[in-house]
Amino acid sequence: MLHFPFFNPRLALARYPVSLLRRIRNELPELPIPQAPALLERWENELKWVIPRCPLCRKRHVHAAGLVGEDPRKLLTHKVKHCANLDGPSGYILIDADPQRTLRMAPEAR
Ligand SMILES: [Zn+2]
Repeated sequence: MLHFPFFNPRLALARYPVSLLRRIRNELPELPIPQAPALLERWENELKWVIPRCPLCRKRHVHAAGLVGEDPRKLLTHKVKHCANLDGPSGYILIDADPQRTLRMAPEAR
């Protein structure tokens, strides 16, 4: 009677050197990075990019957008996600959900 599994992925991978496994992992295509539309808000003398509905977890997140007087668009970059869930992509790219609003709130961004 056979108890040994015919295909055990862990045992199959264990037959290869670590360097080869690392190379294979590095060559795997990365998950697409989602875009997170965010609205500019002013909190006292600070600006914030507020994601009303995160593309990954559907919750609201807040990221720094600099001080009043600075160009908040410089912080529209890739961000490590603020989601509680650790699965999926590691972050998102902030995009301006309302550029007209941003120009009204931060004239120095012109
Ligand atoms: Zn999230």
